[in-house]
Amino acid sequence: MLVKTYCAAVNGMEVTTVTVEVSITRGVMYHLSGLGDTAVKESHDRIAAALLNTGHKFPSADITANLSPADLRKEGSSFDLPLAIAILAANEDMQTDHLAQYMLVGELSLDGTLQPIKGALPIAIKARAERFKGLIVPKANEHEAAVVDTLEVYGMSNISEVINFLNGKYQPEPCYVNTREEFYNNQYVSDLDFADVRGQENVKRALEVAAAGSHNVIMVGPPGSGKSMMAKRLPSILPPLALSESLETTQIHSIAGKLKKDTGLITQRPFRSPHHTISEVALVGGGNNPMPGEITLAHNGVLFCDELPEFNKHTLEVLRQPLEDRNITISRAKYTVTYPCSFMFVASMNPCPCGYYGDPTHHCVCTPGQIQRYLSKISGPLLDRIDIQCEIAPLPFKDLSQAKAGESSAVIRERVIKARTIQTERFKDYPEIHCNAQMSERMIHQFAEPDSRSLDLLRAAMERLKLSARAYNRILKVARTIADLDGSEKVQSHHIAEAIGYRNLDRGDWAERGI
Ligand SMILES: [Zn+2]
Repeated sequence: MLVKTYCAAVNGMEVTTVTVEVSITRGVMYHLSGLGDTAVKESHDRIAAALLNTGHKFPSADITANLSPADLRKEGSSFDLPLAIAILAANEDMQTDHLAQYMLVGELSLDGTLQPIKGALPIAIKARAERFKGLIVPKANEHEAAVVDTLEVYGMSNISEVINFLNGKYQPEPCYVNTREEFYNNQYVSDLDFADVRGQENVKRALEVAAAGSHNVIMVGPPGSGKSMMAKRLPSILPPLALSESLETTQIHSIAGKLKKDTGLITQRPFRSPHHTISEVALVGGGNNPMPGEITLAHNGVLFCDELPEFNKHTLEVLRQPLEDRNITISRAKYTVTYPCSFMFVASMNPCPCGYYGDPTHHCVCTPGQIQRYLSKISGPLLDRIDIQCEIAPLPFKDLSQAKAGESSAVIRERVIKARTIQTERFKDYPEIHCNAQMSERMIHQFAEPDSRSLDLLRAAMERLKLSARAYNRILKVARTIADLDGSEKVQSHHIAEAIGYRNLDRGDWAERGI
């Protein structure tokens, strides 16, 4: 008998419906065709064990199984369940009436339990688009899949439940997630707040400006000055995720298998902070079976590289293209995938290897050569993509203890949202552009052109501070954001003056030190 079941394959962000066909005739052979990877080919043994250990029979017959479309790469073990069900049905060991109504995905353990799979959310979206009545997933994946409405999602613990369900002997309630309620109730539940940060007013201001225009930012300061503490609080002052952004980000984390159990939607902007020993593949994505990297997991959020010069120089170089394009295409012999990666890039570094260059209370023990080597690890082209450079002074204990509690993130966020609203209006005719940081050179001239007095100030500052030519456009972009925070239609000289202050690393004295 020939039986079909349905499941799905995830490649990059693309999901394709896969039909599993199983035909059983007399004989003893098992054939599996349809471009499956090793995990798919090994499914036979898992299925046989799972069926035997749950009191079912693995047919001793000629079994021919095919996964179509045949030219589509299929990887992982989520095909175990639809294969097992098709084999039982083809052997007439279970009913076939409902098989066409459901998509089935799940990895089988040898004892028949269903193990979680990657990509349950995008698969659920596909199942709805293809008008399946329902989707059967491992119990651990039911919350993420049930985010999709008008699709019956059933989380099952083991293969026996699935068999009983399809035989009409077990009728559980579908899993239900109130997506909107979950989304709007959980947008700012983090306990990280800028109110905890005492002092460091200039750095907090720089981060507010960065958040308001979505500018990339680098913080330079000695160890213990609170660089990563402040970076971690950046998502709390960014505008809330839109529901569509939340779905995008959740799908990515679903595909990477990084969603926590019982998580329906990711409701807060992601904050990813990879260690400096991270490999290129883990950072940008790829691998034997394509997986999103940290830059894609940070999509719609923040990627924080603490101790930037400690990262492998080549690993940093590969960041340049995705920072520019906001997506990454990975081509290998076996596949080509594209992942989105629109994130705010935040980095931190010490001013020198020991960390105390320019510190009035500690003595720097680095030689000029060491400092130069350290700074030259960050290439000009990467630095070129960072609009705001912010120097952090070590905070004397006196200031730390006397400073009153900082402004709360909610108050700062209000100002950021106001500035972003102005930008949405400004770029309404440019569907690709959402914020000041993304302005092209032509747009800078159109929207951020300074008046003649400001221009004089800028020229004078560039000469006096020996600012590089590439700093010019960055200053105007950031000044535009500062003017937006100020509610000012024109970019004025004090906006320019503040923006010039965010070019510490471009100044001649830094440049002479190696950057
Ligand atoms: Zn030093």
